[in-house]
Amino acid sequence: MGEWVDRIAEPWGTRTPYGRHQPWPARQDMHLAEGVRPDDVERWVQTASILHSDGDAIDIAVRGGAMVGVRGRVVDRVNRGRLGPKDAFGWQANASPDRLTRPLVREGGRLVETDWDTAMDLVASRSRALLRERGPGSIGFYTSGQLFLEEYYTLAVLARAGIGTNHLDGNTRLCTSTAAEALKESFGCDGQPGSYDDIDHADVIALFGHNIAETQPVQWMRILDRLDGADPPRLICVDPRPTRVARRAAVHLAPRGGTNVALFNALLHEIVRTGRVDRDYVEAHTVGFDELAKTVAPCTPEWAAGICDVPAAKIREAAELLGTADRLLSTVLQGVYQSHQATAAAVQINNLHLLRGMLGRPGAGVLQMNGQPTAQNTRECGADGDLPGFRNWENDAHVADLAKVWNVDPATIPHYAPPTHAMQMFRYAEQGSLRMLWISGTNPAVSLPELSRIRSVLTRERLFTVVQDLFLTETAQLADVVLPAATWGEKTGTFTNADRTVHLSDKAVEPPGEAKPDLDIFLDYTRRMDFRDKDGGPLVTWHDPESAFEAWKRCSAGRPCDYTGLSYGKLRGASGIQWPCNAQAPEGTDRLYGDGVTWAHPDACETYGKDLVTGASVSVVEYRSLNPDGKAVIKAAEYLPPHEEPGGDHPFQLTTGRTLYHFHTRTKTGRAPQLDAAAPDVWVEISAADAAAQGLGEGDLVDVTSPRGSLRGRLRVTGIRPGLLFVPFHYGYWDTPAGSGPDAATPGRAANETTVTDWDPVSKQPLFKTATAAVTLVEKADGRPSAAPTTTASAPASSPASSPAIPATEGGPAAHVHEVPEPDSHNSSGGAR
Ligand code: SF4
Repeated sequence: MGEWVDRIAEPWGTRTPYGRHQPWPARQDMHLAEGVRPDDVERWVQTASILHSDGDAIDIAVRGGAMVGVRGRVVDRVNRGRLGPKDAFGWQANASPDRLTRPLVREGGRLVETDWDTAMDLVASRSRALLRERGPGSIGFYTSGQLFLEEYYTLAVLARAGIGTNHLDGNTRLCTSTAAEALKESFGCDGQPGSYDDIDHADVIALFGHNIAETQPVQWMRILDRLDGADPPRLICVDPRPTRVARRAAVHLAPRGGTNVALFNALLHEIVRTGRVDRDYVEAHTVGFDELAKTVAPCTPEWAAGICDVPAAKIREAAELLGTADRLLSTVLQGVYQSHQATAAAVQINNLHLLRGMLGRPGAGVLQMNGQPTAQNTRECGADGDLPGFRNWENDAHVADLAKVWNVDPATIPHYAPPTHAMQMFRYAEQGSLRMLWISGTNPAVSLPELSRIRSVLTRERLFTVVQDLFLTETAQLADVVLPAATWGEKTGTFTNADRTVHLSDKAVEPPGEAKPDLDIFLDYTRRMDFRDKDGGPLVTWHDPESAFEAWKRCSAGRPCDYTGLSYGKLRGASGIQWPCNAQAPEGTDRLYGDGVTWAHPDACETYGKDLVTGASVSVVEYRSLNPDGKAVIKAAEYLPPHEEPGGDHPFQLTTGRTLYHFHTRTKTGRAPQLDAAAPDVWVEISAADAAAQGLGEGDLVDVTSPRGSLRGRLRVTGIRPGLLFVPFHYGYWDTPAGSGPDAATPGRAANETTVTDWDPVSKQPLFKTATAAVTLVEKADGRPSAAPTTTASAPASSPASSPAIPATEGGPAAHVHEVPEPDSHNSSGGAR
């Protein structure tokens, strides 16, 4: 039963259509290594996807102590058995022969192998010396969105209460700090209001800067299945590229980069002008409407059309759909979060829903999306610039409460200033006040903006850098100590996806060599540092994943992200469960704010907020007077032009982004053969009009140069908006002879050679969408196409059939996934282990 589908060529697989308000049918996808049949599998071990934020539930197939494949978990609410391409093929990276298997230390300029004791003693002794000589502010931690909840929580405790430093942040700063900040600004607290189930009920789905087809492909399957079923939703797409979403949209708006606030203000203008505001909802649940109405009053579609270069009629068309939707679901991602005025723009989407009373009901919700699989945990555990449990660092009662959980003096927990954000940490390292930086599970030498600067910071003699990772990444190559980490499938823990669904991920196989789970590394460090609570007992009282989870439950008790109703036992074998899950909601909570906003009260809120234009903090006194009863805050923002405008030597706008087949800096997906082959090298997208004007064509090798640096790649001519270039940010240097960065023989390859050191004033998220650049020809293609996939937003403007020089992206037999629609859920998963 079932069929085999090449899931590189057809990434979203076969349709299982369903009608509005119906349950999404199950379809079980399975991919096994060549020569392995289902009967050969000795054990199926429960987990969820680690290569995006969707939280697809997966079973790992184990035979002979090795991973030999994966299948989707039919019992799970998130994916109902489906796998995206990265789910199906990404697991192979675990067994890559170049995994780190022993610790490394720098000796005489070279990294040499050593044992764990030597490496950890070095890290601990350097920490102690810095604490003695320079104090806790000399030590910083930069973590990831890919470790597990238990690991972030342990890191937060050791950094904030052990070391006592304020410098702890995640690469989620680059990813979803704007999502968190937008939720805090509107609802007083982080926490995703909506649910993926809203896709089943919405009549209008609006995707703002969110190429869901490539970033969360399984939820795109869900939308595609609705589009093919009865009473399909109408889609609105805001994206400058011709994404798959754009092609299926009823209205596609492709604005000029950096103009989201102008566009969204015009949409709000139309909602107010046409009387589509739900006055009862606004009156009962919000403050700030009058200010918003005043701000958007002059923002007519014609005004926005001039700024955004989008026809006014199309803005009206989109506003009409938004204004008349019976159940509206909006989703937001990097086209908003990584662009100019990021938080101001993301908040306007929340405002749209507050104005229309579209919250907390099936089909009516906002998904301020995450990018990474465990970004939510970085945020809630306090490893991403916030205190654990969404506590407010400015509220002494919250700090005292946290100090009680940890049995430390409140003064031990730094709360003299906002927790330091990543861009500031690198600035401190550059300026010399930060002397030790411990980087876990992330690769800033490729992913941060303006890479020449980042490399120069990481290689400073005075900065002691510890890198904890799976491979000798570009960043690890620059480190003083490299710690080999175990990863997904090799350790146990939990993580939470973008719609608050908590999944358990069990250990399936042993890590390679001497690699250790991140939790074990942090616990080892904690022991060596001998961190104590205020009574002289050990600060960290847990010793393994499950005891760490139980400790986290105590910290989350009574907070918005309450995990007290969850346990490993409850999560094992069943579907993931959405927090809050506690005595009042033992089966979890599908949507927040069904009964109005609950966490915005001045005594409860995670933040008092910021001015959306300047980032200036709102004081507690101001907040109390604005919002004494803790309602949702409707916050207005005026449009400001982007900081860099094209012209002169740099006539193009340049945006960076991602492709379906890769995750981040390809440390894992570049080592999965099917994914690597689908998108093996960097490319540069340009519109047909711009290519013609410059005398350029498909496959031409070009240099893309910004005021910061340059990269070299082959051109793909697409339907992208004229004036804009797109470069995927995944490609670095680990698989080039240069290793960690460009050199005389290796030109720039990373998109971030060109991006700017600039960030959103509110969320501190770096801007990756509004650089300016020039394109110059290096060499004509001579028939050689670019490496860009043809199946995605990078599809050529002319079809591969009409341009045979561009082969269609395919995976062949190695990429076959077995799909079984409507499998028997009892036989096909749930009983993993
Ligand atoms: S690629 Fe960017 S947005 Fe996506 S998960 Fe990574 S950091 Fe987040």
